[in-house]
Order: sequence, then structure tokens, then C-alpha cells
Amino acid sequence: MPTYPPEPFRIKVTESIRLIPPAEREKALKEAGYNLFSMKAEDIFIDLLTDSGTGAMSQEQWAAIMRGDESYAGARSFYRLKAAVEDIFGFKYFVPAHQGRAAENILAACLVKPGQYVPSNMHFDTTDANIRARGGRPTNLVIDEAFDPANPHPFKGNIDIAKLKAFIEKVGAANIPFGMVTVTNNAGGGQPVSMENLKAIADVYHSYKIPFFIDAARYAENSFFIKEREPGYAHKSVKEIAREMFSLADGMTMSAKKDAIVNIGGLLCTNDEKLFENVKNELILREGFPTYGGLAGRDLDAMAVGLYEGLDEAYLAYRLGQTAYLAARINEAGIPTIQPAGGHAVYLDAAAVLPHIPQSEFPGQALCVELYREGAIRGVEIGSVMFAHMDADTGQMVYPKLELLRLAIPRRTYTQSHMDYVADTLRRIKERAASIRGYKFTYAPELLRHFTAKFQPL
Ligand SMILES: *Cc1c(COP(=O)(O)O)cnc(C)c1O
Repeated sequence: MPTYPPEPFRIKVTESIRLIPPAEREKALKEAGYNLFSMKAEDIFIDLLTDSGTGAMSQEQWAAIMRGDESYAGARSFYRLKAAVEDIFGFKYFVPAHQGRAAENILAACLVKPGQYVPSNMHFDTTDANIRARGGRPTNLVIDEAFDPANPHPFKGNIDIAKLKAFIEKVGAANIPFGMVTVTNNAGGGQPVSMENLKAIADVYHSYKIPFFIDAARYAENSFFIKEREPGYAHKSVKEIAREMFSLADGMTMSAKKDAIVNIGGLLCTNDEKLFENVKNELILREGFPTYGGLAGRDLDAMAVGLYEGLDEAYLAYRLGQTAYLAARINEAGIPTIQPAGGHAVYLDAAAVLPHIPQSEFPGQALCVELYREGAIRGVEIGSVMFAHMDADTGQMVYPKLELLRLAIPRRTYTQSHMDYVADTLRRIKERAASIRGYKFTYAPELLRHFTAKFQPL
């Protein structure tokens, strides 16, 4: 039986959750058109839809909220956040933003011109969309191992350095306003990027005079993976590793809803004074004055505290241990998951659980619905519902390589018995898998259809 370090906290405030009876679940599923995005949260028992903004804040964060300074300009809260950001990330300039995508929007507005390319390991979907919204072309250059779910490579988020060089040579450095890397690689299973790879990425970008930005949403989890897995880092603190990582880059964007353990917030940092001037002007237009960036003063204070709590090594050992534990328990039930377990989520191979359901009948969605039906648990399909599309040239359907169900784990929110409940529910589903059927659309919009589509069982 796998184990992990006990929670380095005890529980002072609780929030009730209720397991509604099977008949009510069936009714809720029907009313939602078998799309879990359309469900009421109160009908969910264990909600693993996302780890974004869903974590539990600490007593220190709630105390900091009471100290929030709501002055429009130059608030004390801003200066407390500034001190934390400078201490942890070490960039010369920064602005707060209301979430990660707001920071991405401003960066893309300032730097991306139509037709230009922005390489990365894999862009997260909001980053991808913000680059495209400015006419840019996001490009993913992750190593091939990332596409093999069984491959246990310790740093499956790495960029393929040979591909990166060849890509820059092909499109020309002048057509690349900045380069990125996402740590950990959310779109690729929450997989980390090694320090060795980060150094090589920085060297390549800088040899072509391309500014290097890190998408830092899960930088603390990435730093802990480096400490655990990369030779030479076991004796360094996670904070030292983070500092080293950011010293390689020219700036970063961050969704603070991840490793800063707040319910709302984001950051944009840069060392470039000219860019910073433009960023501030964009921010004032879209988000707010540069010392609050679309957030309340109290949100800035919660972030300032949460940034440090996210780096706490006892917390990170428990956090990554909990994810690995859930993956191991699910594997014990005979269900394969992307290996190794990522930082924030477990990705189940739905095609392996439901091999009799073809991709055109959505095995990931079928497993997602079954998880709710059996245990009122909410996950998210990452497969054909999200990604299958008609090829404009051939008129043929193009299906994604993998049919996955993602279970994202909110921070400091669920206990080991919740994880056992999830694994036991999946075990029961696996036992009756042969009788589970696929789905068809009754409604599907053109873009981002997974959010609002409706289904009917076959
Ligand atoms: C969540 C996320 C974002 C976007 O952040 P929001 O706060 O949801 O706008 C960007 N990049 C990565 C890697 C993320 O996980």
C-alpha cells in the first residue's frame, strides 16, 4: 500500500459536502445533458474538476485578508506583495493581475504581432488563445516522451532542445517576440521541467536574443520535483531552486490560483523597463491601476502570504505525495494513468478502461459520467469532446492521441479517505466497465464545445 506524509496542518474550519442518493444523481445528470460543467456544485460530493482557485486558504491568509488596505493607489497590501515577489522571483518589475490569463493577455498585447511565433514546451489553453487572439502562432515543442503515457521519464515537461533550435532557424528569431516554457506542464499531465533543460532553453533563446518568459503557475511543485529527481538539487531548498529557475528568465506570467494558494489572482513580472512601461499602460486600460491590477487589496495580501506557503517543503511533500497516492490506488484497481503521476492531477486512460467504446462515442466522457453516477465525483474529460475536430482540407474527423479523464486535486482540501473513496469508486466502475456505453452530442457549439455541449447516452 502506497503512503505519503501526513497533512502538515489540522482543520479548523469545515465546509459540509453531501452525497446525494443515486436517483437524484441520475436526475442531475439528465438535467445537465450529461455534461459535468453544467452541474450544480451542491450536487457534487468530491469535486476534482480543477485545482485552480479551489484550494483552502490558511489562518495566516485569512488574517492577512483582514489587514487588506483598499487604498486605490500605493496600498500597503501592494508593498507587502511586492516584497514577497521580489524575494521569491527576483525580477525587477511586476504588476498584479486578476488571474493568469489577464497577465497573458497583457503580455501578448504588448509583444505579439500578427504572424509571429511563440514557442514553448506546451502552451496552456488560455496562453494559446491569448497569443492567437493577437494573430500569433503558439508552438509546442515538448519532448516526444510526453506523448507516451507509460514512459516514466522524470521530466516529461522538457522542451526538445534540438527541435527548438531547428524551429528558430526555420521561422527566424525576428519572428519570435518571446519564448516560453510552462512549469509544470499542465497541458501535458502536470509534468515537470528539469533545471538542466531550463538552462538549455535559456541559452538557446538568449543566443538568438529572444526574451524568455516562464509560465510559473506551478513553479513550486516544479521546484520540488527538481529537488526530488534531479542530481545535485537534493540539498537545496525549494526556494533556492525557484530563485535559480527564475534567474534564467527575463520575465514570467503566473496564475496565483495554483501555487500561491489563493482563490483569485495573477502576476506578470519582467526585467525590461520599456516593456514594463507598456505593461502598466495596458493594465490601466484593462485591469486597473498598477498597484492593484484588478484585485482588492485583501487579495494582494492573501497572495503575499500564499506565495510562501506554496513553497513550504512539508506541504509540498504531502501535496505531491497525495497525487502520487491517488494514482497508485487507481493503478491498483487496474486502471492505467499517465506515468509518472503529475503534480496537481491524475490522468486516467479512459480508452484502456472502455476499449469497446470508439473515439467517436467519447470514452473519456463516458468514464466522467460514470464517476459521477457511481460516486458523485466530478472530473474532466480531456479527449475527443475537447479536441476532436473536422479537418478543413480533408473533411475527415481528426481525433486526439489520448482519451483521458483528469482528476485535479485542490490544495489542502481533501483528505486521504476522500482519495480512497475516489479509488474505490473507480474500482467498482472498472468491474462493470463492459456494460458502459458511449455518448453522442445533442448540442455542440463550434469553439470550446466541452464547456456547454449536451449529450445523450447511446
Ligand atoms: C491556470 C493556468 C493558466 C491560466 O490561469 P487563470 O488564472 O486560470 O487565468 C495559465 N497557465 C497555466 C499553466 C495554468 O495552469
